[in-house]
Amino acid sequence: IQTKKYSEMTKQELMQEKEALKAQYKKYQGMGLNLNMARGKPCREQLDLSMGMMDTLNSDADLSCEDGTDCRNYGVLDGIHEAKVLIGAMMENKPENIIIYGNSSLNVMYDTVSRAYTHGIMGNTPWCKLDKVKFLCPVPGYDRHFAITEYFGIEMIPVQMTPTGPDMDEVERLVKDDESIKGIWCVPKYSNPQGYSYSDETVRRFARLRPAARDFRIFWDNAYGVHHLYDGSQDYLIEILEECKKAGSPDLVYKFSSTSKITFPGSGIAAIATSLNNLEEIKAQLTYQTIGHDKVNQLRHVRFFGDLAGIKAHMKKHAAIIRPKFEAVLETLERDLEPVGIGSWTNPKGGYFISFDAPDGCAKAIVDKAKKAGVTMTKAGATYPYGKDPHDSNIRIAPTFPSLSDLKLAMDIFTVCVRIVAIDKLLAESE
Ligand code: PMP
Repeated sequence: IQTKKYSEMTKQELMQEKEALKAQYKKYQGMGLNLNMARGKPCREQLDLSMGMMDTLNSDADLSCEDGTDCRNYGVLDGIHEAKVLIGAMMENKPENIIIYGNSSLNVMYDTVSRAYTHGIMGNTPWCKLDKVKFLCPVPGYDRHFAITEYFGIEMIPVQMTPTGPDMDEVERLVKDDESIKGIWCVPKYSNPQGYSYSDETVRRFARLRPAARDFRIFWDNAYGVHHLYDGSQDYLIEILEECKKAGSPDLVYKFSSTSKITFPGSGIAAIATSLNNLEEIKAQLTYQTIGHDKVNQLRHVRFFGDLAGIKAHMKKHAAIIRPKFEAVLETLERDLEPVGIGSWTNPKGGYFISFDAPDGCAKAIVDKAKKAGVTMTKAGATYPYGKDPHDSNIRIAPTFPSLSDLKLAMDIFTVCVRIVAIDKLLAESE
């Protein structure tokens, strides 16, 4: 184990270190591995936790709601009441502020952008009729958010993330005078990819935003609201709808959530929480889109969890499975990279990701090198709009899906790649 910082090594020492690392790399390459730390997917054991949900309904079950609605039939456009109560408790919003959708919150976000694009928000010009529409994108951020706005031809403006949330001075400055800025993507708790949670101050500044565009909306994707890794040490987020109301801008925010990483991704339930004005507009569109979403699945979720306490107990079981994986990633980074002074990384208390920053100009080369040894990482650049990381530095690590032993091996290989590429950079600079 190397204990001297690379920046303090002579060229000779660096070359020696590189030879040793290359030998390790070759050994890994010879193993014909296929390991994947690319996407934030629950592992099999996590999915198994929700198998009990399948037992809540069988052919003998009464599929009526508390109000007598037969869940097997059409209707109930905005979701069954008991699902609104359950998801409302999870989202910290009143049932009347919620629509329960289908199986994906990303789908709801897409719809929300799409509706603004074709029909406009509250009587404002549809975005498709404007010369320019822009969105603020905290970076690093979630690639699928950026993909939606890119698809609609919306210009994305990066705003730097900090451990307390997006750079709010910059957000306030940008939205103040520019009417073409229509929204911002936010993952306010255990953010993707850094695992940062917005401070009270950040949330309050969001609620007090006074954008030039009347149809500006905050896209508040609280995908990881209950996804804590630790019992005793959790991040807290103040509730944005309430803050917006207090600040006199009740319509400023669309809040999204889903049970994707609680039960089954792709077979969970998704929801929006927003003001009554916004809800009215959304429901008016929804009548054209569907006669109603999957109420049987909503009922299944309600019967499985019962209430918020049920969800919280369930999330502890998830945490028990994935906590050791997060810790293994951090231990390997600390063991291999801290002593040599290369890279920096986040240490989240929840969510699905760890964010790694390589020395500038190294991320692509590291991800390529890992791939050639059978380790797939999220594409370098993916955490930035248009896939372009100006520093070529950020790499998202997703620890949940591989087994603990695969993950440890993948991380061993990853840090070998990081060190080789970092040494290459140092040697090139010393030329
Ligand atoms: N939002 C964020 C921030 C996510 O990380 C993910 C999944 N990676 C999603 C949304 C996807 O949610 P859903 O499955 O509800 O579409």
